[in-house]
Amino acid sequence: MPGPSLILGGTAEAAALARAAAAEGLDVILSLAGATRQPAAVAGRTRSGGFGGAAGLAAWLRAEGVSAVVDATHPFAAKMHANAVAACAEAGVPLLRLMRPPWTPQPGDRWTVVADATEAARRLPSEGVVFLAVGRKDLAAFAGAKARLLIRAIEPPEAPPPGAEVILARGPFATADEIALLREKGVQLVVAKNSGGEGAYAKLAAARALRLPVILIARPPLPPAAEAATIAEALAWLTSVTQAGAPAPR
Ligand code: NAP
Repeated sequence: MPGPSLILGGTAEAAALARAAAAEGLDVILSLAGATRQPAAVAGRTRSGGFGGAAGLAAWLRAEGVSAVVDATHPFAAKMHANAVAACAEAGVPLLRLMRPPWTPQPGDRWTVVADATEAARRLPSEGVVFLAVGRKDLAAFAGAKARLLIRAIEPPEAPPPGAEVILARGPFATADEIALLREKGVQLVVAKNSGGEGAYAKLAAARALRLPVILIARPPLPPAAEAATIAEALAWLTSVTQAGAPAPR
């Protein structure tokens, strides 16, 4: 029997792939970083917490006899993406990165693309209201902001920038609700990461509808890996890789 497949998660796509793979009768383990105290419910076998770097992950893959890895972590989870490439190479386990395509500008968008959160923070105006939709990890870069910050997060950030207003909510969000929020709070600029996908896009559609400028943080560079853009492609890959490793039927 081939060993289980590992899905590195923390995204809606990872949870959906785990569900789809389990429905196909594949033996999969979904791994979560353990950063969210109340993660969305997931089906099937899961594990939680870091592996201890690339070496720790390679040791874990060997110990569990893992036959394939799908790295379905968030496009901005640069460390985990790099660890997955290094660990799978070391342990000799096939790897596929499931990566949703980035958003591209549409007519009417007023985007300024920047390399990282530090550059985004440098470009903030000194007054007005800025909607900061960047996630907890990147908030520190905005500690010195002079504009009023409106932050949306799933869980309360430990150290939000001083004076920031925090709204707790979990996506997906609808464009009409995002337009209402931006209007109600008098937002003049949106700062976001180019995460891609549907669930987080509404704020950009809302900014376009209201003709608001957006500072969009580009994705971090990642080491090369085989990639799939859809859950269906990743499921087909998992099926073929694990069946290739299975003993031939008698
Ligand atoms: P990161 O900086 O790339 O990774 C930091 C460390 O967290 C990794 O070195 C690893 O620890 C651990 N880790 C990350 N993903 C893991 C997983 N699926 N299973 C087990 N350990 C994992 O990642 P991050 O940006 O902090 O993101 C953490 C989690 O949140 C990821 O699962 C990601 O998919 C999700 N997420 C991130 C963002 C974002 O904008 N960054 C947005 C939405 C969701 P060890 O080195 O000890 O193995």
